Amino acid sequence: MNFLPERYWQRFDLWKDIDENLWNNWKWQLKNRIKSIQELEKVFSIDKKKKEIFQKVSPVFHFGTTPYYISLVKKPDYTDPVFRQIFPSFEEIDPDIQNNGSNDPFNEERSPVEGITHRYPDRVLFRVTTFCSVYCRHCMRKRNFIYGERAKSKKDIDIMIEYIRKNRSIREVLISGGDPLTLPNKKLDYILGRLQGIKHVDIIRIGSREPVVNPFRFYDENLLELFERYDKLWIVTHFNHPNEITQETKKAVKNILSTGTPVLNQTVLLKGINDDKYIIEELMRSLLRVKIKPYYLFFCDPTKGVLHFRTDIKKGIEIMEYLRGRLSGLGIPTYAVDLPEGKGKVPLLPEYIVEINDKSTVFRNYEGEIVKTDIKWG
Ligand SMILES: *Cc1c(COP(=O)(O)O)cnc(C)c1O
Ligand code: SF4
Repeated sequence: MNFLPERYWQRFDLWKDIDENLWNNWKWQLKNRIKSIQELEKVFSIDKKKKEIFQKVSPVFHFGTTPYYISLVKKPDYTDPVFRQIFPSFEEIDPDIQNNGSNDPFNEERSPVEGITHRYPDRVLFRVTTFCSVYCRHCMRKRNFIYGERAKSKKDIDIMIEYIRKNRSIREVLISGGDPLTLPNKKLDYILGRLQGIKHVDIIRIGSREPVVNPFRFYDENLLELFERYDKLWIVTHFNHPNEITQETKKAVKNILSTGTPVLNQTVLLKGINDDKYIIEELMRSLLRVKIKPYYLFFCDPTKGVLHFRTDIKKGIEIMEYLRGRLSGLGIPTYAVDLPEGKGKVPLLPEYIVEINDKSTVFRNYEGEIVKTDIKWG
C-alpha cells in the first residue's frame, strides 16, 4: 500500500497552488490530463533518450494520464511500476517483438452487433466508449489508441440494448470500453436504466480503471446515488501493483461499497511490473485491506504493442503456488489465460493431484507434502 503524504501533489511545481477541492474533483482530473511531452516535462525532468522514445512511440500509441495517477510515480524511470504503465517504450513498436501480435487477438470486433461481443451464452461484452482517462501501455484493446476516442451515440447504444432484450439467454452484461466510468452520469444513468429494466439480465458488471487512475470519480455524490438505484450492479477494476493502492483508493471503494455494489479486481501479469510473487502477494493483501476481492490474475494477452510485457505462462503458476497457504483464500485470484480467436478463458493451477488409482487419490499440499487418501476418484 502506498501512504501518500498530506497534499502530496503540491510537491510538484505544476500543482503547488491546487487546493484539495480541485485536486479531488474527478472532472478537474479529466480536464487536466497530461498528454504531451511539454506538459509532462512540467512534472518530471525527462532525459533526452526518453524524449526521443516518446516522440517516436506516442504518435502510434498515444500517451495520456490523470494528474493523480502520475503523482504516484516515485521515480520517473522504467523501474517504477506506475511510470512503466504509462510512459511509452521502444519495445511497443519494435517489429521483432510485436510482429506476432494482433490488434484484436480475441476477435472482439467480430460481433453480432457493433459494440457487442457474445462469446459465452449467458453473458455479453458491451463496449460503450473507446475513451480512457489514462492510456495503459499494456492495454489489451490498444487498437482503441489507434482508431481514436469516441463514446457510442444513443442510437448505437439503443441497437446494442435491443440485441440483449431479444436474447433471453443473456443473464449478464459486462459494460466495458475504453472506460465506461469516464462517461457523464446522465449517459450512464440512461444505459443502466435500460439494462436494469431487462428482466432476464441479473448482473450488470462495469469494468473500469477509474478506481486506480481517478478515485475521485467515486467522491461524486450523484454517481453514488445512481449506483444505489441500480442493484444489479457490480464493479470490476484493474490494479496491477501495490503502489496504486492509496488512502484515496480506500475512500473510493468505501463509497462504492456503501451503495451496495461489490468491488472485484483483475490483475494482468506484466513483465517488469508485477511478475514477482512478493509483489503479487503484497498487491493481494493491499486489495483485501481496502475490501476489494481479487478475481482474476490474467496471463498477458498477445496484443500488438504489448508483447514485451508477456511473461512465461509458468511464472503465474509459480505465483499461485506461492500464494496458496500463505495468503487468505479470500485473496487468491483465479489465474487464467484467454485463448486466441475468442476460444474463451482457461483457468490454470499448480498440479495438486499426484496419483489416482482404483482405491485412492494422492494429493500434494501447499507445503509440498504428499498426502495419500482413500478418496475415490470416480
Ligand atoms: C472475459 C470475458 C467475459 C467474462 O468472463 P468471466 O469469466 O465471467 O469474467 C465475457 N465475455 C467475453 C467476450 C470475455 O472476454
Ligand atoms: S483503462 Fe483499461 S481499457 Fe483503458 S487503456 Fe487502461 S487497460 Fe486499456
